[in-house]
Amino acid sequence: MTKNKYFNFILLFLTCPLLYGQTILGSENYIEYSVGTLPILISIPHGGNVVPSTIPNRTCNNPTTVTDANTIDLGIKIDSVFKARTGCRPHLVYCHLRRTKLDANRSLADGACGNPIAENAWQEFHKFIDTARFVIHQKYGNNSFYFDLHGHGNPIQRIELGYLLRASELMQNDDSLNLAKFISLSSIQNLVRNNASKLTHAQLLRGVHSFGSMLEKRSFPAVPSESNPNPGLNNGYFSGGYNTATHTCFNPMLEMNGVQVECNFQNVRNSEINRIAYAVAFVESVIEYIKIHFNLDLINCNAITDLTSLESKNIYVYPTIIKSNDILKIYNTLAPVKVTWYDVYGKVIRQDLSSNQQIILPINLANGTYYLKIEEEGLKHITQRVIILK
Ligand SMILES: [Zn+2]
Repeated sequence: MTKNKYFNFILLFLTCPLLYGQTILGSENYIEYSVGTLPILISIPHGGNVVPSTIPNRTCNNPTTVTDANTIDLGIKIDSVFKARTGCRPHLVYCHLRRTKLDANRSLADGACGNPIAENAWQEFHKFIDTARFVIHQKYGNNSFYFDLHGHGNPIQRIELGYLLRASELMQNDDSLNLAKFISLSSIQNLVRNNASKLTHAQLLRGVHSFGSMLEKRSFPAVPSESNPNPGLNNGYFSGGYNTATHTCFNPMLEMNGVQVECNFQNVRNSEINRIAYAVAFVESVIEYIKIHFNLDLINCNAITDLTSLESKNIYVYPTIIKSNDILKIYNTLAPVKVTWYDVYGKVIRQDLSSNQQIILPINLANGTYYLKIEEEGLKHITQRVIILK
């Protein structure tokens, strides 16, 4: 796709509000965006297992291809725990391609190695993150946080939090870390400038109210934190990669704070029960973190979101994969509805006005993916993705 087409891709989401709880799939289902309402954005670039033969294995620039085992399942559990604890869900972007095919935490050139199918998936992954960040910003401004979720194979079994500061930089004393030159390297530099308790950079990295200390309080060792202020020089440590640098305020174009979360295997990712326990600790830590630093109570998420009309109404269409002679039915509407069809670039293709909650097919449209904006008079509209497959 050209740059202009990506712009239109984003425009589609600007003009058609996303439906809370909706899952949006990219081409061939390689990339998945689970739409939330919390000011929390989580991406999972290295957990996928899909290995299409149309994408050759990556060989460019001596690539790392190891899978971050069980991180997709961990993301699903974190999603569920957020829903259980707050009544609302975070925004989650998953890459289902195995890292041998695509590395969504590298530049386009290194991540896709020039394969157009992998390049398209890379673009979708990052555009979904852009879309989620935009949706969050509309409602919450800068009171939001981004987590790029990974699994590491370093020997010390602890969570490694990467704020884009290297091990040698974290070995500086607190006074040094509070200097502008280190703050300017940090993925939480906006939080340093504006946090509810006026904490310093060093306190946010490894004080009692740092994210690492919050995980440790819940029995998951982490670095940096109060008890592990730096990782040491020879233990291996991931300080944050492409996504953290691109999708946080380290990028001068953006305002969202964030961190790369590298999860160890033992006690965190290695069993169903450990993943659940860690998901609970992670979610509780995030809730505490957002409350302390942004003075925002996620537990009362229904008070800080306006989901009522969307959730109670829940208009939907069926089927979403449409074959010849299907009847497209629109559910949970009473008044006449207007259905506007968009192509994947956001261009209006056609409009239908239906008084009986049905659109009779076939319609004169080519095979492909379309987005339907469904409007019921006096009510909010929803957007639904459909595929025509004649
Ligand atoms: Zn990873």
